[in-house]
Amino acid sequence: MSIKCPFCESENTRLHLKLKDYFLSQEDFEIHECDDCKLLFTSPRPDKSVIGKYYKSENYLSHNEHKKGLVPFIYNCVKKINVKRKYKIATHTKPYLLDFGCGVGDFLHYAQQKGCEVMGCDLSEDARKLASEKLGKTIVTPEEIFTLPHSTFDVITMWHVLEHIDDLKFQADQLYRLLKDNGRLVIAVPNYKSYDAEYYKDKWAAYDVPRHLNHFHKESLENIFNGKFQLEKIHPMKWDAYYISMMSEKFAGHCNSFIRGIFRGFISNCKACRSGEYSSLIYVFHKI
Ligand SMILES: [Zn+2]
Repeated sequence: MSIKCPFCESENTRLHLKLKDYFLSQEDFEIHECDDCKLLFTSPRPDKSVIGKYYKSENYLSHNEHKKGLVPFIYNCVKKINVKRKYKIATHTKPYLLDFGCGVGDFLHYAQQKGCEVMGCDLSEDARKLASEKLGKTIVTPEEIFTLPHSTFDVITMWHVLEHIDDLKFQADQLYRLLKDNGRLVIAVPNYKSYDAEYYKDKWAAYDVPRHLNHFHKESLENIFNGKFQLEKIHPMKWDAYYISMMSEKFAGHCNSFIRGIFRGFISNCKACRSGEYSSLIYVFHKI
């Protein structure tokens, strides 16, 4: 029996991949593809009451800034370079900016220093606390964001967040409602059509089930925002190929995951020079 697509509710879906939560629980999951809207989705999708346990890990690097060692050091250096680039891509003048799923607030902190009015939200209480301290202002929950008036923001960014969102329809409606006319929506997500995804298959770290509930490509992403947002531009995230390949090497149980990951990430970026299918992509939309 096919599983209903969580976005368009079509039953025209089929199994894409069987895999495990290699990062944490080692539990089995599947990824299915919808033939109608082209979305790839995780199954089963843990509901809100249990999803928290899949995020409980000391190794969740995005919330762990002060770890020692070579990989966290490089990760943090790259993060600083990335923040500047993200800012350039996301902003033009000095917008009122919402970072949806702001994590520990590095991007918002940079935007704030550049003179933007900023707001952040995150599901994680720990991340909210750290970001609040950094920014000197309260970071709210997504539920609080959804109570804000129409046309509040000039720009909304979601850096590697949309893949974690369960109700995509509701999210797209809210993003549309919260943005001003002609406002900008910037979405960064992993790309399962990248070379590193095809090379590592079920061990590809950016599948990251069940934390990632959705897996996107250009077509499915455009379908999610169809009639609301127009795709303007796509930017590569070249560093992600290295980081994701290193993690994937670990999941595959290989030693020298650092060197192997650098090598495979390099190959992925070379191939993507021609195909455009980088490990992760930043999509810039504007509200129509
Ligand atoms: Zn669908």
